[in-house]
Amino acid sequence: MTIAVTGATGQLGRLVVETLKTKSAPEGLVALARNPDKAADLGVPVRAFDYDAPETLAASLEGVETLLLISGSDIGRRVTQHAAVIEAAKAAGVKHIVYTSLLNAPNSTLGLALEHVETEKLLAASGIGHTVLRNGWYTENYTMGLPAALEHNALIGAAGDGRISSATRQDYAAAAAAVLLDTSLQGKTYELSGDDSYTLTDLAATLSAQAGRDIPYVNMTEPNYAAALTGAGLPAELAGFLAHCDVGASKGALFDEGTQLSTLIGRPTTPLASAVATAIG
Ligand code: NAP
Repeated sequence: MTIAVTGATGQLGRLVVETLKTKSAPEGLVALARNPDKAADLGVPVRAFDYDAPETLAASLEGVETLLLISGSDIGRRVTQHAAVIEAAKAAGVKHIVYTSLLNAPNSTLGLALEHVETEKLLAASGIGHTVLRNGWYTENYTMGLPAALEHNALIGAAGDGRISSATRQDYAAAAAAVLLDTSLQGKTYELSGDDSYTLTDLAATLSAQAGRDIPYVNMTEPNYAAALTGAGLPAELAGFLAHCDVGASKGALFDEGTQLSTLIGRPTTPLASAVATAIG
């Protein structure tokens, strides 16, 4: 059985490949990368795979039985890109596609859900067996800002009192690996999220406890938060996107009470305090 992983050079893809390698022979794995040189250190066979080169994709999927399609990062172009991958998978005779979607995608208030919903529809229409991993927010989306919070003595955001049920990329990678390796887990749609939810005030309190000083959470309006992120050096588009997501979080878009992720991975999801400790070293 050959398992291939798209986006294998990305942060999630790398973790999936590393996790798969601990459970199966590297010869049965294929890392698919738009820049194969970047995947050379993964220790598994690498094939070129650029979503924007549709005519090349089927050949790279030759002999692949199970494909993990990690959603692309080019927001606004992803339906076309994912459609090309699904078409190529069909042409190459791939038996099963596992796709990383978004938590609660069909009912999500986040604008980025639309491309995931469209991709899920393409999968359903493809006739190929498929599993949908509706991944919740990455804890790292918030913990990556903690060094700056320490520097400025405040954690800023626009998520209000919204509860966030995030999990680490490693947690989601473990779930993807479990589904890729166990056919009895396939053919379903999973809503994946962290076991415990928190507010950004809780995150600031966890950070304060570990730093040994008070780092308050400062809630901002969407435009002010976006402006603060731009001022900190983020590109305007990314800043606007993050502020939009935070406002979604304030309305519950990142909250989920389920435990499907910990059930899939056979352990609790990574606690917030551990993720904070990792982030601030
Ligand atoms: P990432 O580190 O940005 O990795 C994205 C991967 O997609 C990279 O390997 C990138 O290749 C690859 N890619 C982008 N465009 C491609 C193309 N045209 N053809 C082939 N490969 C392409 O993102 P991540 O953290 O691993 O997350 C994986 C995905 O989850 C993202 O792409 C996005 O759809 C979604 N996401 C989820 C959350 C969340 O909180 N749940 C947050 C952010 C993103 P290169 O290495 O060559 O750039």
